[in-house]
Amino acid sequence: MTHTNDYIPPKNKGRKQLFESGFLEMLTKTHIAMPLTFFPVTGLSVMAYGLYQGYLSLGLAIGLFLVGVLSFSLVEYLVHRFVFHMEPDTKLKQTITYKFHGVHHEYPKDKMRLAMPMVVSIFLTVVMFTVFWFLMGRYAFGFMPGFVVGYAAYLGVHYIVHAYRPPKNMFKTLWVHHGIHHYKHNDRAFGVSSPLWDYIFRTMP
Ligand SMILES: [Zn+2]
Ligand SMILES: [Zn+2]
Repeated sequence: MTHTNDYIPPKNKGRKQLFESGFLEMLTKTHIAMPLTFFPVTGLSVMAYGLYQGYLSLGLAIGLFLVGVLSFSLVEYLVHRFVFHMEPDTKLKQTITYKFHGVHHEYPKDKMRLAMPMVVSIFLTVVMFTVFWFLMGRYAFGFMPGFVVGYAAYLGVHYIVHAYRPPKNMFKTLWVHHGIHHYKHNDRAFGVSSPLWDYIFRTMP
């Protein structure tokens, strides 16, 4: 199986320029502290508002939050496997896979490209909340916080994996799992925040 990233040898240093325009280029760089603050604060504010307005009981909010976290981890797996690593058989697909993800495979240690640009993040958060609200009404006040906190957890794990040496605690499994995806098998080990979906969909290395 050929993938975009198979023939791009990972570089230990440096950063890819993605846009000619300095302004657009600046927007593609994200300090990890920004999303790691933005998502939990936004999520917990939404949940607090839902509780305060009496849309949800505390128990229901916690249950929906956990479903939201689990749903995010499934979306994380599916997007990584089927969008970021789709067969780049057209010019458009090639551009998408490279700019969104191939660049991370080429420069896995570029810490400013480990999260989506904040403008995209904020836009998607608004879109997502609207979609969840249409789909599940008041339950969105518990589900959406779980979903975005799941994204923040994924970012945290991904950052730890790329920025630090393998730790000696429970994160070590995740470190090894994602290392295999980068340096051995681009078509396996798609889960970053957990290997759960790799077990279920049989893409364990
Ligand atoms: Zn990948
Ligand atoms: Zn990575």
